[in-house]
Amino acid sequence: MYRQNYLAHAISRASDGRGEGLFLTRHPDGATVRYADFWKNAERMAAVLVAAGVTPGDRVAVQAPKTVAMLELYVGCVLAGGVFLPLNTAYTPAEVAYFLGDARPRVLVCDPEKLEALTPIAVEAGVANIFTLGAGEIGSLIDARAGAEPGFTAVARGAQDLAAILYTSGTTGRSKGAMLTHRALASNSEVLRDYWRFTSDDVLIHALPIFHTHGLFVATNVTLMAGGSCIFMPGFDAGAVLGYMPRATALMGVPTFYTRLLDQQGLGEAAKGMRLFVSGSAPLLAETHERWRAATGHAILERYGMTETNMNSSNPYEGERRAGTVGFPLPGVELKVCDAETGQEVATGQIGVIEVRGPNVFAGYWQMPEKTAEELRADGWFITGDLGMVDADGYVTIVGRGKDLIITGGFNVYPKEVEGVIDALPGVLESAVIGVPHKDFGEGVVAVVVPEKGADVSSEAIIDGVADKLAKFKQPKSVVMLAELPRNTMGKVQKNVLREKYAALLS
Ligand code: AMP
Repeated sequence: MYRQNYLAHAISRASDGRGEGLFLTRHPDGATVRYADFWKNAERMAAVLVAAGVTPGDRVAVQAPKTVAMLELYVGCVLAGGVFLPLNTAYTPAEVAYFLGDARPRVLVCDPEKLEALTPIAVEAGVANIFTLGAGEIGSLIDARAGAEPGFTAVARGAQDLAAILYTSGTTGRSKGAMLTHRALASNSEVLRDYWRFTSDDVLIHALPIFHTHGLFVATNVTLMAGGSCIFMPGFDAGAVLGYMPRATALMGVPTFYTRLLDQQGLGEAAKGMRLFVSGSAPLLAETHERWRAATGHAILERYGMTETNMNSSNPYEGERRAGTVGFPLPGVELKVCDAETGQEVATGQIGVIEVRGPNVFAGYWQMPEKTAEELRADGWFITGDLGMVDADGYVTIVGRGKDLIITGGFNVYPKEVEGVIDALPGVLESAVIGVPHKDFGEGVVAVVVPEKGADVSSEAIIDGVADKLAKFKQPKSVVMLAELPRNTMGKVQKNVLREKYAALLS
């Protein structure tokens, strides 16, 4: 189907001629959607967008709850030749104003509850049409779709045309719009489908948000490309996910999914028939990997990716899934580790900045040519900003974000190394190590530590515990005990929040 539209063709091929095949079962009501109906509704969405004035290359911004209709809208936008621009549902209207002003979308789709607050902002940004789409699949977009005929002829789009813009989470400075082409999305999903062996027999538990690359592209496009089905959940609910496992084959999650599932009774029994558990978007603790293996017999498959690049590396499907690593570069993806100052490749086992190149890599930041030139080299290598290393067996390990590196008294401290030592101490659940201003050393090491439930752990015990395991300059100068680390919706620890909160601790 849709031969003239690169991405639509790629994601519809597996279901072509299998319209009766099941695409999705919705949680919690169990409603089912067959492929033929999904494509018909996506075509109706495309017709609505074109009628609303969307021409090829126009942005369609969406800040709406996770619903089947939003998935249809994503695919409809691709069919209409538009550029899909999903926004985190947690953004406030003031934040949305920045994105609309930057991306100048033709259409905005928002939650009915936010319509009043967003209308003046959208008008200011020159948005031509606003639709609403709410939880329970209500809103004006649903009404408009009902009035549209299926049978839309997909707008011609080629490999290099833009299919989506996803804004980075922007923990430092302004959030940047990563421009993703039809080819970047199609090629990456195809590689993942094959690498992770997805087929039409698969049933994926889809509990990730669809404003982010993980849930939108990895989970959705891989399911579509395999012609499999998914259990589509508006959000993560550990008990419900456990309940679905006996009728599913795969789960894609962030590390917090796995730690929460480990607290559930009956996990081992429920996970028996599953074939694959994937984790990514944030580091999975080696301890979680081991606990999961002990509880279920499955080794979680950890992979590494980012908004700008889709997925870069993955532990193997067959072969050793090594805890604490993100596996090997995916087929077609080149990955090297370079010195931050010179840009020269470092030796095996040395830490440096990870760079990647391949068809998966984005086309640059939307209207930010200088930023693009700083991070995307002319020869196609993208400087990820992640620090990591490749070991003698070829496994890649992420050591942290470059900006999280602590430089104290001229020495480099990699937070992950210190966190690893602290996490291994008795009674510690997890930790986050940050650098804060220090009058003598420039920066000093601070550890924020979360104790295990019911454990009585003191700051002194942490300081004593690391004393003979870490060089003096790596040891925390202060330890803060917290009940929980601040995390964003993708489970990433917000170290910038911690740095701000404890900025004055050592001064
Ligand atoms: P985002 O663009 O929001 O998906 O964030 C991408 C960043 O998440 C990467 O640059 C990494 O810093 C981090 N990340 C993603 N997957 C992993 C992983 N498996 N282990 C460690 N960090 C990861």
